[in-house]
Amino acid sequence: MNIIVLIKQVPDTTEIKIDPKTGTLIREGVESIINPDDRHASIINPDDRHAIELAVSLKQDHGGKARVISMGPPQTIDAISEALGMGIDEGILLTDRNFGGADTWATAYTLGKTIEKIKKYDLVICGRQAIDGDTAQIGPQVAEFLNLPQLTYVTQVEQINEKRIVVQRALEDGYERMESPLPVLITVIGEINKPRHPRVDFLINACKDKANIKIWDAADLGVTVQEIGLGGSLTRVIKTFSPKIKRGGEILKGNKEEVVNQLIDRLHEKHFI
Ligand SMILES: Cc1cc2nc3c(=O)[nH]c(=O)nc-3n(C[C@H](O)[C@H](O)[C@H](O)COP(=O)(O)OP(=O)(O)OC[C@H]3O[C@@H](n4cnc5c(N)ncnc54)[C@H](O)[C@@H]3O)c2cc1C
Repeated sequence: MNIIVLIKQVPDTTEIKIDPKTGTLIREGVESIINPDDRHASIINPDDRHAIELAVSLKQDHGGKARVISMGPPQTIDAISEALGMGIDEGILLTDRNFGGADTWATAYTLGKTIEKIKKYDLVICGRQAIDGDTAQIGPQVAEFLNLPQLTYVTQVEQINEKRIVVQRALEDGYERMESPLPVLITVIGEINKPRHPRVDFLINACKDKANIKIWDAADLGVTVQEIGLGGSLTRVIKTFSPKIKRGGEILKGNKEEVVNQLIDRLHEKHFI
């Protein structure tokens, strides 16, 4: 089974700086975050560590190869090394100044082109959502680009063979079981497993010997600057600002029962309940 995991290195969100001219994030020189998910220090987006864990455990049970792909600045190689430390076989770092300023469309396009280049894959696994960009769009967009079926919010892989997968996915008020032919793209949430810690010997190998990490740029993917990065992005940030906090509010008057009834009326008026 050939598995591809898409992972994102996340920056320290309190350190985010915006380029005032382009309205895009400045990633260079920004410290990476200590994963808030548990006490283990990680630079990989929390959902993505669960995606890596799933890939490594499926590979252990069914054989095959597990790869990670990450698009980001050169320091993203540290996140890829961490994934190799967890048992992933090979990493692909997509790094090129021309990838900078990508919105989700251009990011998904670049990741999709990379997966197309790999050609042989049965399962693509993404995290549901990145803790910085927060859109949860990349998984579904990559699936659309590759014309793959997609199963989102996956909490359990119940069965998988070379042709089909059966998963349990989370809904707002419960779970549902779904089946899909392979290849398929799935997005996973934290409930699915407990990510293992990287093995020190694997981690040392990954950091010392970069033989299992490929570094690709736009030319390797055969894409033009108009298709990627800022040039390939369909959205433009016109302005960024912090919303002003309005203080004050309304003090409801009356006895307890009257105040509660007034409050319920207000919440109904605003369609909160
Ligand atoms: C106009 C605009 C300009 C932008 N400019 C920049 C910029 O200059 N620099 C910058 O860093 N960001 C920039 N961004 C943000 C960037 O587009 C998003 O971070 C990126 O598209 C991923 O979206 P997300 O963080 O919401 O991920 P989500 O969709 O929430 O992530 C879901 C999953 O997709 C996968 N994934 C997400 N990102 C990657 C990745 N890079 N590589 C591999 N897998 C991934 C992971 O599995 C992740 O768990 C810009 C966004 C916009 C709208």
